[in-house]
Formats: sequence, C-alpha cells, structure tokens
Amino acid sequence: QQADIGLIGLGVMGANLALNIADNGYRVAVFNRTVVKTSEFYEEAGRLKDQIIPCETLEELAKSIRAPRPIILMVKAGEAVDEQIVALTPYLAKDDIIIDAGNANFHDTVRRLAELGPNDPTFVGMGVSGGEEGARHGPSIMVGGTPESYARIEPVLTAISAKYEGESCSALLGPDGAGHFVKTIHNGIEYADMQMIAEVYGVLRDGLGLAPEAIGSIFEKWNAGPLNSYLIEITAKVLAATDKKTGKPAVDVILDSAGQKGTGRWAAIEAQMLGIPATGIEAAVAARSISSLVKERSEASKAYGDLGTAKLADGGQAFIDALEDGLLAGKIAAYAQGFDVMAGASKEHGWNIPLATTARIWRAGCIIRSQFLDQIAAAFEGSEGKNLLLAPAFIERMKTGSASLRKVVAQAALVGLPTPALSAALNYFDGYRQARGTASLIQAQRDFFGAHGFKRLDEEGDFHGPWSDVG
Ligand code: NDP
Repeated sequence: QQADIGLIGLGVMGANLALNIADNGYRVAVFNRTVVKTSEFYEEAGRLKDQIIPCETLEELAKSIRAPRPIILMVKAGEAVDEQIVALTPYLAKDDIIIDAGNANFHDTVRRLAELGPNDPTFVGMGVSGGEEGARHGPSIMVGGTPESYARIEPVLTAISAKYEGESCSALLGPDGAGHFVKTIHNGIEYADMQMIAEVYGVLRDGLGLAPEAIGSIFEKWNAGPLNSYLIEITAKVLAATDKKTGKPAVDVILDSAGQKGTGRWAAIEAQMLGIPATGIEAAVAARSISSLVKERSEASKAYGDLGTAKLADGGQAFIDALEDGLLAGKIAAYAQGFDVMAGASKEHGWNIPLATTARIWRAGCIIRSQFLDQIAAAFEGSEGKNLLLAPAFIERMKTGSASLRKVVAQAALVGLPTPALSAALNYFDGYRQARGTASLIQAQRDFFGAHGFKRLDEEGDFHGPWSDVG
C-alpha cells in the first residue's frame, strides 16, 4: 500500500512530525540525507512501523507515495531546501506538492515559488511551531499557498495540528510567503515575550534579591492568572530545577549568553523595511546581542561599578503585583506591534492575512500559546487590521496595566536594572497615545537643513519655515 504523504529530513522536527502523521492514521514515506538515520528512525518507530515506509533514495520515496503526492521538507533552512527541491523535482509531477515546513525566510519562499516552471510541482511554505513536543503531539501550523493546495493537504494538517478546545491550530493564512512570514513574526513575538519575562526575573533577582526558587513560585502563581501561558509555565519549572553536578539552582550555572538562529532578527528587519514600529521585538533581538558580549560586559561592570545604585526600596507584595500587571501590559504592546507588522506586510504583499485566525491558531501548539491569544482573537473579530491598542477590551486593560508597567520601568531604571523590551513597550504605548507628538520639531529641523518642507495644521499644502529670519 502506498503512502498518503512523504517527508524528507528526519532531524528533531521531521522525525517527530513523521511519527505524528503516522499516529494519526496516515501512511508516511520518509527519507533522510544520511541514510542510516532512516533505518534507525524506522526501527525505533515501534507500533507505528506499519504506517511508515522508509526510503533510501528520493526516487524510491516518490514511488512510495500515492499520486498526486504531497511531500513535506523538514530540513535545515537555507541552501539545504534549494538542494532538496532540485534533487526531488525530477521524480515529481505537476500535480505534486512540495511543502517546506522549515523556518524559511519568506523571501526565499517567494523566490522558490517563482523558480518553479509551469510543469514543476506546486510549492507551499509552511511555518511549524511547537518544538519537538509540538511536532510529535500537535504543532501550530501556518500555511502559505493556494486554496487548492491547502484543500489537498488540509485533512492531514488538521489531524496532526494542536487543538484548542477542539479547534485545529492549522490554517491557510495567505498565498506564497504568507505562512513563513507569519512564522517569522511569531518568533519575533516569542523573542519579545521571553525577553520581558527575563527582565522581570532580573528585577526580582537583582532588585529584590530573591532566590530562583522564590522567583519560580511567583511565576507559578502568575501562571494561574491572566499571564497564563506556556512560556510562564516553563519559566516556573526552569527556576525550580536543580543542577545535578553542583546542587545549585540550574539557572545559576548557565552562561548568560542567549543564542539566536535569526528568525527574531528577520522579524525586526521586516518591520523596519515596512516602516512599522516593532520596538519590543527589536529590543529583544538587541538584548540577545548584548547578552553575547560576555567579556565586554564583565569589563564594563568593573569599569563602572554599581554607580551608587542600590536594591529596590519597595519590595512588598504591591510591587510584585505591579510586576505581574506590568508584564501583561508590556506583552499587550509587543503583541500589538507584531500583529501590526503582519497587517502591514499583508497590505504590502496583498496577502490578506486573517489576524483573528492567526491569533486562534497560536492559542495551542506553539511556543507563545496562551489564554491571552484567545482574547486577541476576540479583539480582532470584526476589527481586522486595527491596532490591538485600539480594541475596547485592551484599552481598558492598558488604562490600568500601563500604570504598573510605568512603575516597574521607572523603579528598575532608578536602580540601574535593564528593562529594554518593557521600556520599549511603554514608550511605544506613550508615543502611540500622544495626539500631539514632537515630530513638528523634526519637520522644522528637516526643513531648516534640507528644505524638505512641512505641512501646517491650519492650511493645506507644503510650506517652508522662516529660518532665514533666525540665521
Ligand atoms: P535538525 O538539525 O535536527 O535536522 C536537520 C535535518 O536537515 C536533518 O534531517 C539533516 O539531514 C537535514 N539536512 C541538513 N542539511 C541538509 C542538506 N544539505 N540536504 C539535505 N538534508 C539536509 O533540525 P530541526 O529538525 O531542528 O529543524 C528542521 C527545520 O525545522 C529547520 O528549518 C528549523 O529551523 C525548523 N524548526 C525547528 C524547530 C525546533 O524547535 N527545533 C521549531 C520549528 C521549526 P542529515 O541527518 O543528513 O544531517
């Protein structure tokens, strides 16, 4: 019996996705560049062996799948994807679909689609989030492609995806690069969310002098409230863990230098290219870069000392409550930015990304999954494309939440603790709600040195200022 679907790349994600597909009653033919991994994977598949066809060549893989064939590529992003497409295409027909499920840059997805000829297979760009566990038991799946291609792969994607109260977390979000773009912004938001959590951890650790275990208990408590999310849940667990070698809290023996594979940076770059503020994401990317300057930070720490800053004066429950509330406010602003970038890209590329659906398929399966995304989905219902900060439900929350965020950022600044993402979120909020900003001065300066002209408040047209009068 032939397979329903094929999968290339039995690394962490591919192997788990293949098992997920098999577990959901579909037959899957698999191939891996390093052939021995295919047989190892097959031997370890246990009860799912019957649903798996291990293949040693791409030709064998193509022959093992019932036409028209859907084939998922889950290999290293970048050149490996191009190489696999070139190697695979000779064995495929026009009706077949190659689905790139890796973390591709959406520009590559658009290019790959354009490079395929009229008789080549169709190409679909699909973002998958949820890590190893998600891939195995239900990820969030963000698809970019035609409705016809999606209709063909929808049954298997719905089956393997995460479910939020029974609803599948897989959706077609637009044509060509839309799925990979949404995945990129998902990762950018993930960076901002993680950074804000780390900043709050820093205030609790260095501002209030709390031990990891105590901080973990605070996060555990918060996870039962409005901050309830996978990231808060794992933060509590991480802080409770003990290092086996030293007996110290695990977090205390880990080098404070964060890795990054690039998707967060792409999100910041795309926001900049679109001219849409995503300062929470940008701050989070920059914070990871600063974290990598381990030696320099040590040198600067010696050079500057503590600059006379001290521990936070206000360490009571009221301040801990403000941290909870402020973190939520920071998240609202950062998510508002992320969704705004998607709305902007959607307009720019004519993608029509449904924002409410995007929030819905992030409610389960992915790394930023949370209850909060259900409220975001509700806010976008009927007001697609409008900034989240203008949704009535969020206006109410930000009215009180911003006061807490302000308190946290101000207190942290006074004692010299960095809160780049939380501060960026607060500044975005304050700038966004300022009806009369300060760009009037920028326009005057631009006109002064470059005769760029400006618009007046009281008259239509372009004007220049009386700068020669003042030298
Ligand atoms: P792994 O490193 O575990 O596996 C990489 C896979 O790619 C292996 O099967 C490897 O084959 C194959 N590969 C690498 N280079 C080539 C090449 N030139 N030609 C053919 N095959 C090649 O990676 P992951 O499973 O973690 O990641 C796969 C994709 O999924 C990436 O795009 C990643 O960004 C994305 N992703 C990862 C997530 C995660 O949490 N890990 C989450 C969401 C997406 P071989 O065995 O021969 O080396």
